[in-house]
Amino acid sequence: MVFEYAPAPESPSVVNFASSYGLFIDGEFVDGSGSPMKTINPATEEVLAEVATASADDVDRAVTAARRAFEGPWGKMSGAERSKYIFRIARLLAERSREFAVAETLNNGKPIRESRDVDIPTAAAHFFYYAGWADKLEYAGYGPSPRPHGVAGQIIPWNFPLLMLAWKIAPALATGNTVVLKPSETTPLTALLFADLLQQAELPPGVVNIVTGAGETGAAIAGHEGIDKIAFTGSTEVGRTIARQIAGTRKVATLELGGKAANIVFDDAPIDQTVEGIVNGIFFNQGQVCCAGSRLLVQESVHDEVVERLQQRLQMLRVGDPMDKNTDVGAINSEKQLARITELVAAGEAEGATSWQPECELPLNGFWHRPTVFTGVSQSHRIAQEEIFGPVLSVLTFRTPAEAAAKANNTPYGLSAGIWTEKGSRILWMADQLKAGVVWANTFNKFDPTSPFGGYKESGYGREGGRHGLAPYLKGEQR
Ligand code: NAD
Repeated sequence: MVFEYAPAPESPSVVNFASSYGLFIDGEFVDGSGSPMKTINPATEEVLAEVATASADDVDRAVTAARRAFEGPWGKMSGAERSKYIFRIARLLAERSREFAVAETLNNGKPIRESRDVDIPTAAAHFFYYAGWADKLEYAGYGPSPRPHGVAGQIIPWNFPLLMLAWKIAPALATGNTVVLKPSETTPLTALLFADLLQQAELPPGVVNIVTGAGETGAAIAGHEGIDKIAFTGSTEVGRTIARQIAGTRKVATLELGGKAANIVFDDAPIDQTVEGIVNGIFFNQGQVCCAGSRLLVQESVHDEVVERLQQRLQMLRVGDPMDKNTDVGAINSEKQLARITELVAAGEAEGATSWQPECELPLNGFWHRPTVFTGVSQSHRIAQEEIFGPVLSVLTFRTPAEAAAKANNTPYGLSAGIWTEKGSRILWMADQLKAGVVWANTFNKFDPTSPFGGYKESGYGREGGRHGLAPYLKGEQR
């Protein structure tokens, strides 16, 4: 049963969005030449602000500013001086964390509890962590005098807008590169607030430029001759387009793409913790997580018990107003994403899997999807193969560890996986079998700036985070 709580809404008054935003180029906000776009709150469909669209010419201005900064003050600055700026950015983010958390929730639809406790603190932690590397690069294991590429073009998605920005900008600055970054068209606002924060930090003009717009603006960045390095996070489809676009050029790239992670539960797993881990694995951020544990592989002997306990737990999830501090599951980020989730759920039903949803009331406006669990899923079903990127779990079974490993690896992706068992030796054996960049054991969706993250197969290449995350931004160290 769900306890009644009084509403506990976070106040939106801590954020003051401007009615319209320009592009952040060479340290200033300037007009964009494309048609402006409206950005909304997906939980209410209310317009939050109007945002400029950068044309190819605007992107060119941003790249020119970044090049000037690279050849000028930033390129000449010592690592110790760079690190002071990055520490300053980290401190300002920590100081302004409440404002950024509220802005993220308003523009993305994720629960305030998550933006407040995960997104913003982890973004600040990334800047703190990489600030520490800036003056120690010669000890990072990449040669005695590692050198930056120059101008990095960075393109990010909407699911963790500020955190993805931090994953991109912090290592780029630590290694001495300058940046042209494009946030997603549906969630540009925390990147624009971040531009304001960079002015506050007095970062030299042109070191970080933020251009807003949709796919065309992204393509203009990827195709610009003055960009030395591309860092992309997003769908496998767009990752492929970018890889084709830059093939044969001197550009280097890291691609962080989609996933279809297996969360594997053995019969000796502690059931309460496991159920919490399954819930966190797929319903955190409404399942809009590249490394979400979207395929639950359960050992056959405990299948019924695990599913029953999971359903009981899901009845207690609070779905609704993301600004309420008690909310567990918020809004889907866009109408387009909701349509994709709905289409794949219909495909699961048509292909013969059994769907189950907890009872909950959904708000009338905005984009919502009930947490959904499919049982009786077979490996060939679309819901077992394709990334849904929503609050939808597909449950499959296995009998032996070898079968679990084979089923876990049976997707085109290879980003992450989870293992739940009491036996350390089984964890190590399984981790060795799994084709996944990250393997969690008896936990899920744990992120830390010191630990590398990235994929195998169609989940992309390159690593972000940790010492490994420096390599893609250093010459001769593309790995
Ligand atoms: P998307 O690929 O549609 O868009 C990502 C970004 O690319 C956006 O900024 C978009 O405007 C831009 N873009 C679109 N077309 C482009 C083009 N032709 N050239 C250059 N840029 C272009 O992805 P999305 O819907 O924003 O995000 C969801 C996807 O991101 C999921 O597949 C998810 O798995 C993936 N993701 C991966 C990671 C990871 O670390 N591996 C992290 C978060 C999200």
